[in-house]
Amino acid sequence: MANGILPIRSRPTRRRLLTGAAGAGLALIASPAVLRHAAAQSWGKGDPFSLGVASGAPRSDGFVLWTRLAPQPSSSDPETPAGMSGGNVTIGYEIATDDAMTKVVRRGGAVAEAVFGYSVHLDVAGLKPGRPYWYRFKSGDATSRVGRAVTLPAPGAALGKLRFGFVSCSDYEHGYFSAYRHLTDEHPEFVLFLGDYIYETIEENRPIVRRHSDGIEAATLPTYRNRYAQYRLDQDLQRLHAEVPALVTWDDHEVQNDYADRWSEYFDDPAQFLLRRAAAYQAFYEHMPVRPVLSRPNGPLMRVYDRFTFGGLIEISMIDGRQYRSREACYGPPNKGGGHLESNASCPERLDPSRTMLGFDQEAWLFSALAHSKAQWNVIAQDVLMAQYREKQKDFEGFWTDDWDGYPACRSRLLKRISDTKVSNPVVVGGDIHSFFANDLRVDFDDPASPIVAAEFVGTSISSYGPPYDLLAQTLSENPHVHFFESRRRGYVCVDLQRTQMQVRMRVVSDAHDPNAEISTLKIFAVENGRPGVVEA
Ligand code: FE
Ligand code: CA
Repeated sequence: MANGILPIRSRPTRRRLLTGAAGAGLALIASPAVLRHAAAQSWGKGDPFSLGVASGAPRSDGFVLWTRLAPQPSSSDPETPAGMSGGNVTIGYEIATDDAMTKVVRRGGAVAEAVFGYSVHLDVAGLKPGRPYWYRFKSGDATSRVGRAVTLPAPGAALGKLRFGFVSCSDYEHGYFSAYRHLTDEHPEFVLFLGDYIYETIEENRPIVRRHSDGIEAATLPTYRNRYAQYRLDQDLQRLHAEVPALVTWDDHEVQNDYADRWSEYFDDPAQFLLRRAAAYQAFYEHMPVRPVLSRPNGPLMRVYDRFTFGGLIEISMIDGRQYRSREACYGPPNKGGGHLESNASCPERLDPSRTMLGFDQEAWLFSALAHSKAQWNVIAQDVLMAQYREKQKDFEGFWTDDWDGYPACRSRLLKRISDTKVSNPVVVGGDIHSFFANDLRVDFDDPASPIVAAEFVGTSISSYGPPYDLLAQTLSENPHVHFFESRRRGYVCVDLQRTQMQVRMRVVSDAHDPNAEISTLKIFAVENGRPGVVEA
C-alpha cells in the first residue's frame, strides 16, 4: 500500500534475507576469531550496555536476544548514535540454564548492526522447549547485566497455568515507571507491550515529573533513537526487560499522535509523513526484541504483527492497528485530523464497509488463525479500545474515530468471524485510552439480543494522564456492555490463566508522580471456560 509513494530503500531480497539468517546463524558457532575480536576492545568512553538487555519473540526452540551498544546513550549527534561510529561490531554472548551463568549451554558472537544503531537482534534456535534460560553479552572489558528468556512449550504440550501482564502508555514526562517495577515483581512469564511505549511529544500544559531530555518533539531518526534510549535508561523499565520476555506491538505515539497509515494528525504531505514513519519504525526496531527476519524495517514498512502459541493453553495474536488502517473517517482541515467525535449523521463515511483497521492482509492472517487455533484460550492483543463507546461532548453525541469506533465494519467482520469460527475462549486486550475497561463484545452493540462473542480488557496507562472521568462516565448507561470503567488510576493488568478460567487483576500504583509508589489491586474480573464475556469476580 505504501509502495510506490516513496523511493523505498531496497526491498529485502532473498539474498539479503539469507545474509541476515547467516548473520544470526553465526551466533550458533563459537568462532575463536570472533571472540578474540570482541575481547580486544576497551570501552573507556562508557558502558556499551547502558541500555540493558531484552528477550522476546519466543519459539519452542529459541527466542530473540536484544541489546544496543550505547556507550554514550544520550548523545544526539546523528553521526555517532549513542557514541558509536564505524562498521558492524561483533560482540560475544552466553546462554546458561541458571541465573548465575555457571551452566553455559551456548556461547558465540552476535552482530551489532551499524545501520540499525548498533542494535543486536540475536535469533537463537536449537534450545529445549518450555524452560527459562539466562543470557548476557560481552564486549572487550564490558559485560551486560544478565537477562532472562524463555522458550515456548512444545506445540500442543500440556500447560496448566500461565501468568502474564499487559501494559501500555508510559509517558516519561507524566510519571515514574513504578507500575513496570511492580509488574516485574509479580514474575510474569512474559509481558505484552500494547503501544505508546514512548511519546514523541513534549508536554506543554500539564504538570510533568521529568523532561524528555532533548526538549523537542521526536520526528527524525536521531530524535526517536534518543527518546528510546532515555526510556531504557529508566531502571524500572530496564529491569522489566531484563527479567521478563516481551511480546510487542505499537500504537500511535511511537510515531505521531493519532496517525493512520500515511495520514498525519496535522495533514502533512503523506510522502513526507512516510519518511517520518520510516524513521520512527526503524527506531522501534532498533530497541525491541523482535525477529530480525520478520520485522527488519524496509523504508516506511515494518511487519510487527506476529503470533505466539503456548502449548495447548493459549495463542496470542499481536496485532498492528496503525500501519495498515484506513484514513480517519471524515479526515480534513481545519480540525478533523486524528481522533474526533462523529455521529452516523455527521459522518456516514465512518460506516463504509471498505474501511479497515487491520488492512486486508492482516485481517486474513488473523481470520485464518481464528479458524485453525487449537489453543484453549485465544487472545487478540492490540492497541485501542474495541468495544463501541457512545460518547458525549457538550451537546454532541457520537463515536471516537481513532479507535475501533472509527472502523465499525471491520470490527463487525472480526467479531462475526470470532462467532462463526467458534474459536475457543476469545479475549481481546488493549490500551491507548489510559483507562481500565472490562467489556462484553457483541457483533451488534446496539442490539441487546446480539450474542456476546468475547470479553475485552483494556489496561490503564503506566503513567500517562487519563481522560476526564466525568466526561466519559456520563454516558456509561448508554454503553451497557461496559462492566467497568476507570480513568483516574495508573497501573497495568496481570492475568492468571488456567484451563478453566482466566483471572484478570487490574493493578494500580498509589501515585505515578511518586518514584516509590506502592501497588494494590483495584478490581478483579474473570472469564470462565466456554462462556464468552466478562464475569465479575
Ligand atoms: Fe497513550
Ligand atoms: Ca494512543
